[in-house]
Amino acid sequence: MNAAVQAPPIALPPLPFEQNALEPVISGRTLSFHYGKHHKTYVDTLNKLIAGTEFADLPLERIIEATDGSTEHAAIFNNAAQVWNHTFYWHSLKGKGGGEPPAALKKLIDASFGGLDACKKELAAAAMGQFGSGWAWLVKDGEKLKVLKTGNAQSPLAKGPKPLLTIDVWEHAYYLDYENRRVDYVTAVLDKLVNWGFAEQNLG
Ligand code: FE
Repeated sequence: MNAAVQAPPIALPPLPFEQNALEPVISGRTLSFHYGKHHKTYVDTLNKLIAGTEFADLPLERIIEATDGSTEHAAIFNNAAQVWNHTFYWHSLKGKGGGEPPAALKKLIDASFGGLDACKKELAAAAMGQFGSGWAWLVKDGEKLKVLKTGNAQSPLAKGPKPLLTIDVWEHAYYLDYENRRVDYVTAVLDKLVNWGFAEQNLG
């Protein structure tokens, strides 16, 4: 095998569901662009940026940790974090999601927010309150759960709090299906797609 023709170091992970599995809340058409174009482009760009650099052989999480806050490596951070954030987002969703969280997570949600409705309300407020592009997150910070929002490619990953689930609020996540109505997208995701089981697995 020609050593010059190697597989790229960072791969685009497969979607954890079929492209139409989130319909009617998120269309297969949105998924085809969001996963097939946006997510893939972050992977391709990252591989170009890290080729031949000190980051070329690092796992994705290490690249993010090593470049978080760096001006010099801002482009690498942005693309690496967007690769990770999107993979995390796909796992945060599932067809016929929503409903009641599993017991251990529910207990923490009750203790941290006073109930599931209050938790969802806080997540929706973060998603709506993120000006421009970004992400809303449910995280575990110490013994408590919290809601955070981050702008653009920013991620709690390298900052301490443990991400449990996320909602992409970049326009490309919802514009084909909801046009400018971010609130309708966020509400539908929280009621019908959010994968509480994944969030519970991430409690660790
Ligand atoms: Fe996105």
